[in-house]
This record gives sequence, structure tokens and C-alpha cells, in this order.
Amino acid sequence: MISAAAAAALPVRLATAQEKAARATRGMPPPIIKDVQVIATAPAGYRLSVVKIVTGQDGLYGYGCATFTQRAGLVNLAVEKYLRPFLLGKPADRIDDLWQAMYNSSYWRNGPVLNNAISGVDQALWDVKGRQAGMPVYQLAGGKHREAVDCYSHASGRDIPELIDSAKKIMAAGFRHVRVQIGVSGMAGYGAARSQAKLEALHEGAIFEPAYYMRAAIKMLETCRKELGEEVELIHDVHERVSPNQAVQLAKAVEPFRLFFLEDVLSPEDIAYFRLIRQQCATPLAMGELFNSPHEWTPLIGERLIDYMRMHVSQMGGFTPARKVAAMGEIFGVKTAWHGPSDVSPVGHAANVALDLVCQNFGIQEYSPFNDAAREVFQGCPVMKNGYLYANDQPGWGIEVNEKAAAKYPYGAGESRERKDLNGGWGEIRRRDGTIIKQ
Ligand code: MG
Repeated sequence: MISAAAAAALPVRLATAQEKAARATRGMPPPIIKDVQVIATAPAGYRLSVVKIVTGQDGLYGYGCATFTQRAGLVNLAVEKYLRPFLLGKPADRIDDLWQAMYNSSYWRNGPVLNNAISGVDQALWDVKGRQAGMPVYQLAGGKHREAVDCYSHASGRDIPELIDSAKKIMAAGFRHVRVQIGVSGMAGYGAARSQAKLEALHEGAIFEPAYYMRAAIKMLETCRKELGEEVELIHDVHERVSPNQAVQLAKAVEPFRLFFLEDVLSPEDIAYFRLIRQQCATPLAMGELFNSPHEWTPLIGERLIDYMRMHVSQMGGFTPARKVAAMGEIFGVKTAWHGPSDVSPVGHAANVALDLVCQNFGIQEYSPFNDAAREVFQGCPVMKNGYLYANDQPGWGIEVNEKAAAKYPYGAGESRERKDLNGGWGEIRRRDGTIIKQ
């Protein structure tokens, strides 16, 4: 106990405007959803969809990521035409209840378009609740497990020397984890430009031959471990481009190079093969970027067949389901490594960072830098320092969207001719004989 005189002498900390607003709302009826809007913008060339929930309480609103860049127009329509009328007039404070209601209201569920639409609303409701409470979402969700979020960044090259150079630059910038990808002779390698060599084919389009790639990837990883040293953590993304048997071979062949993880070595259609890989080697496995449904992640986590869950948080339906699956992973010893590419909006990245901070079983976070235009539209993006992302401490996600600036970057801005013609969709990749393969 301190005396009244001593207490009076203590410096007085004045309540912030946010804290005053939060106090004023306690005991009040819940805010009602008054409008549901979509902000469609492409400040970094990727079509981003951000949902804005406006409540009946003066100045109380929130933002959520609904970005499915390859089919953005459909997500925006799902929000405006179906979720908006479903949500108007409902209380904004029952997040999980509204999630369940939206999820079941289409009867058929777990598809990427509807999951992203739900995610936009879900994350916006968390933002509303954070702003109402005057707290960052990571505080609402229990508080930090760690000071900042350890990240990996992307190194690439048309050949091994160019890749090693790129990886060294990333390590010099402070990253302890590097994803390494190389171009494959004459082919459309994932995550790196192709080398100059020409490969004979029966068509003019992008070519990919899985066996060539596999042999090049093994050699590349061996060289990276030798040249980059023992301390760096190496990650490689197969992007589901090999057959199940090749996936087993590849996971076994790279075991001596002690990867941090091997990513998407199988496609979602082939996940039963994880059992074979698990039985034959101890290469750490990351999977889930393409998952949309609990039917996909539940068996892999429940049978302890992977080491890192890689889901794209908006594709699984938002912050609410991601927390639940992360908790399942904690019980089964599977860590998080949420998908963090450039086609997640900064609001989505902030949601990833909040999950990273509050989940005990955090593994790593994929990092994609925000360009100046993205920071102009999304003010308060998480900050990168020495390979760590730092959360914004403002209430909610801590991000304000400058809607005037967002309008300066319409869909199609900065896109290639082909992608613009496809409304942001992807083209195709074929083997030399013309057979389609997975992207
Ligand atoms: Mg990937």
C-alpha cells in the first residue's frame, strides 16, 4: 500500500481517446451491422479484396481480408450479393456465431470463393471488436507468446550461382530462414525465372517436366547447404508439381541437407501419400496452402503426417477457424506457417501476425514486402526488422485503409496482358507433349 499523499504525487497517465471510447461503450447495446462493403484495389499489381463492416455506432468499423486474387470478382460478388443482405441488422459482437451462420447459409460449403467472402467479414468483425475494446486483436486473443514474428524470405535465381547470391543478400538483411528456388533449364520453374536454354516441345506455351525439375532441385539444395553454411534454415517449395512417387523420392533424397521444411511436395488430391513419405524419411513437411476444407487438414494433423500447417487464412474462412486449427495443431505437435504471399492484403498479413503472436505452436511466417503504394493504401502495415515482423499496437488489426488512395489502383493495374485478359486468373503449364500439369 502507498499513502494517499504518495499516490497523489505519482504522474497521472491520461486515458487515450480509444480507451475513453471503449469505456463509453461498456454496458451499451451491441453495435449493429449497418453496411458491408468491398474495397477492390491492386496497389502492388495483385487484385486484393478487403471487406469493410460499418456499424451503427458512430465511427466504429472494421476491415477483413477476402483476397482470392485469381477469382477476385466472384468473391466481391458473393460479399455484396449474398453476405451483405444476410448480415445487415445483425449484432456485430457475436463473431463465432456469425461465422457459423454464414458458413451454413449456403448449404454447400468449403469452397474458395465463399470461404474468402466469409473471411472478409470474420476478420472485419475482429477488427471492430478490437477497436471497440481499444485493444489490438492479439490482446483480445490472449496476448503475446513472443516479442516479434520470425520470418522467411524468398531467394531465387535462374541458376545456382545466381540463387546463392540472392540467398546471401537475404541473410545479410538479417533473415535466418530463406526459401530457395531456381529456374530449370528451358522450363517454367516455380518461384524463379527460367534459364535461357530452349527445350523442344510440341507446343509454344510454358513447359514443365517434373523429373528434370526434381534432379535440379536435389542438386540445388545440396549446393545451398554447402555454400550457405550450417546455420541458415533452408526452405523449398515444390508447388505440387511432381507425381506422388517422385514426391517420396524427393523427400528422401533431400533428407541429408536438413531443411527447415519441404513445402507442398504433394497436391491436395494426393495427400494420402504423406503416410508413405513419413514412413521413409524425417524431412520436415509443410502442407496446406491450397486447402479449403477441414476434410483436408484434419487427417494430416490428427495422424501427425506433417510438421507445419501452411493454410492461407482467408481461404480457410478467416481468423476464427485458423485459431481453432492452430489449437488442434498444438495438441498434435504440428506448428503454424501461414501462407504469406503478395496476394494477401496487408489486413490479411496483420491477421497472420496476430495468429503468429498468440499461438504457442508458431513455426515460421512467410514474408512478402509491402511496396510504397500498398503502404499508402494500407496505413499501419506490420514492420519488418532483421527478419522479424512487428505487430502494430493500435486497436484491431491496427490498419486504416485510405479508400481514396485505394481507388487510384484499380484491378488490372500493373498486370501482364495475359493476366488482365483473364481478369487476374492464371494461365496454364504443360509438359513437353502438351499434358496439363498442376501450377
Ligand atoms: Mg507455396
